[in-house]
Amino acid sequence: MTGRPGYDLHTHSVHSDGTTRPSDIAAEAAGLGLAGFALTDHDTVDGWTEARDTAHSHGIDFLPGIELTTKHNWKSRHLLGYGIDPGEGELMAALDKVLESRFGRARHMVDLLAVDYAITWDLVVGASETLAVGRPHIADALVAGGYFVDRSAAFAEVLHPRSPYYVPTFALETIDAITLVRQAGGVAVLAHPVAERQSTPTPPDAVRDFAHAGLAGIELEHPENREDWLPPLRAVTEELGLLVTGSSDYHGAGKPNRLGHFTTPAATVELLRAGVATPR
Ligand code: AMP
Ligand code: FE
Ligand code: FE
Ligand code: ZN
Repeated sequence: MTGRPGYDLHTHSVHSDGTTRPSDIAAEAAGLGLAGFALTDHDTVDGWTEARDTAHSHGIDFLPGIELTTKHNWKSRHLLGYGIDPGEGELMAALDKVLESRFGRARHMVDLLAVDYAITWDLVVGASETLAVGRPHIADALVAGGYFVDRSAAFAEVLHPRSPYYVPTFALETIDAITLVRQAGGVAVLAHPVAERQSTPTPPDAVRDFAHAGLAGIELEHPENREDWLPPLRAVTEELGLLVTGSSDYHGAGKPNRLGHFTTPAATVELLRAGVATPR
């Protein structure tokens, strides 16, 4: 579904690499006339309380979510988890390792970049309250230093995986992450399966493996999905009977994606919630 109404099921706040607070997203979502939204910060649930409280004060619904850093066959894949209970299962313990690796990896990249650019670790994490430090935070320091006009320009050059300054970070296996989400009582949805920046589309066979592990849905409507890569994904989605979600992947000023660009119908959100152990 393009635009309003419905739910935007993929947004980021200052708790990961978005530039706006959860309360700002709630206010903006209400202003757009959305029925609700999910906060899906990378590898952290820190923004949930503020997001839920402010969503409810604006009279809209909130679905708690997270976007997990995962890989399958050595390719980066992002997995959305909705309705997880952070106190259940091993998911949050597994995320400690992901967050710790993010930290060491970002420090390493900053050390490499500092040889050629006047940036420091303090400039990268200075004012940030995120536990999930990543390349976007390094991009912001490079932009503030006048080296690039925006995050995208920094990503196109020095933050690109083929750049000499790039350092990989630890990622969970996608299949394990699906299991961890389900153990935590949540439902798993594959994020932007054919995003341009992933350099390779998710193969239908990988989606079959994910469905076998318990994947509930797939984000076929996402501004970065490549239209020419979508047909095989649509076919396998239908074959497996997966739910289809639509979202913006809003990052505030960090990306061109606008809140509510794609949305998910309330009926689909109900089906997702039906898969959650303790709907909240
Ligand atoms: P990391 O998790 O540290 O490897 O960084 C990946 C994150 O950077 C993704 O979650 C995106 O939100 C963000 N990102 C990737 N490419 C771009 C881009 N061209 N412009 C802005 N943000 C980007
Ligand atoms: Fe991001
Ligand atoms: Fe993502
Ligand atoms: Zn995202």
